[in-house]
Amino acid sequence: MSNIPFDPRPGLGLRPIINVSGTMTELGASIVSPEVVAAVSDILPHFVEISHLQRLASRQIAMSTGAQAGYITASSASALTLSVAACMTGSSLSEIEQLPDTQGMRSKVLLQMGHAIHYGASIEQTIRLSGAQVRLIGTATLASGYQLEAAIDDDTAAAVFVVSHHVVDHGQIGLPEFVEICHARNVAVIVDAASEYDLHGFLSAGADIVIYSAHKFLGGCTAGVVAGKLDLVRSMYLQNRGIGRGFKVGKESIVGSIAALRAWSTRDHIAVRAREAAAMQVWMELFAPLPGVQVAIEPDPTGNPLSRLRIQIDPASAGITAWDLADRLEQHSPPIIVRDHDVEQGFLVLDPCNLHPGQEHIVADAVIAICRAAMRSPESSRTLVERRAANAQSLLSWPD
Ligand SMILES: *Cc1c(COP(=O)(O)O)cnc(C)c1O
Repeated sequence: MSNIPFDPRPGLGLRPIINVSGTMTELGASIVSPEVVAAVSDILPHFVEISHLQRLASRQIAMSTGAQAGYITASSASALTLSVAACMTGSSLSEIEQLPDTQGMRSKVLLQMGHAIHYGASIEQTIRLSGAQVRLIGTATLASGYQLEAAIDDDTAAAVFVVSHHVVDHGQIGLPEFVEICHARNVAVIVDAASEYDLHGFLSAGADIVIYSAHKFLGGCTAGVVAGKLDLVRSMYLQNRGIGRGFKVGKESIVGSIAALRAWSTRDHIAVRAREAAAMQVWMELFAPLPGVQVAIEPDPTGNPLSRLRIQIDPASAGITAWDLADRLEQHSPPIIVRDHDVEQGFLVLDPCNLHPGQEHIVADAVIAICRAAMRSPESSRTLVERRAANAQSLLSWPD
């Protein structure tokens, strides 16, 4: 465990959480890579010309993705708002200053209903923040090319396509068909690939703008990495004269994103994958004998080179529900935060991608101790409705 970095959290009064949830913004996103830490630390005391620093970022993004140009924003969410703004204003400075009033501009943005996700906030609201209106295509579970085609008119500014485990995984229009239909009518396609590892495929499929989060798999500081067509990327940059000002990104995030892209290109991805697989193997072997517990390795739903461990709980024989197990782990010392999106279906998920060396054993010991205790004395559990209500109450009572 000697390569776990110095931990300032106890001194700050912060709980030393272990993250087996994934790259969650609300947990601090990811382990920022050492190359990024060094690059950010080096630049902080110095002045830079941000326009030139962004030009260097553009070149790095072009090199890493094959795009014509690139740009760093505050986050993927802000990149979504700004890319839609760019599609509405082009490089007209007066229209950039006019937003979010879109009078005289094309202002309709198309989105498949099954892509109208919530990633901590609603993507529809993120698009509307630019002044645009969202036109949903199809139904939640079925959208077809003819519906997209029929929705395009003279007021259509852009179309947004989301790649994420959050989207409905069937019945949607695929990216190649989506692009073909939009491009036939001169509508730009913006791809939200915030959590995707693939830096080339969406551009190759014809996307005009692709958006990644620097602070997720890339291990950078909080930022959005935008790759795409030169004229649109330039228009995004120009939004700094308007609504982009509130999404301002500093030198640390731009330098950090450049360093993260460079580090990504030289990272030993095979070794990382092997480390993650070894952690899951430990968990598989130790959890398999627990009564009422079924474990399985599941591949990432959007095809990222990442697997996770699913722990299915049968409360009748385990003496505990999936959500109570998640909550007890969160109350454990040290606290362990699991992926609990699916607890209502009786399972929780462990994501090994943000573990420091050795932490897989702390996680294993905690799961086993909690399950054994529950078997000895099953406790009455909170219902899911009670759990949701308690979470909502805790949100609304912040900062108490
Ligand atoms: C995480 C995520 C976002 C938001 O990313 P930020 O960079 O934190 O704003 C948007 N879309 C998808 C699909 C995401 O996974």
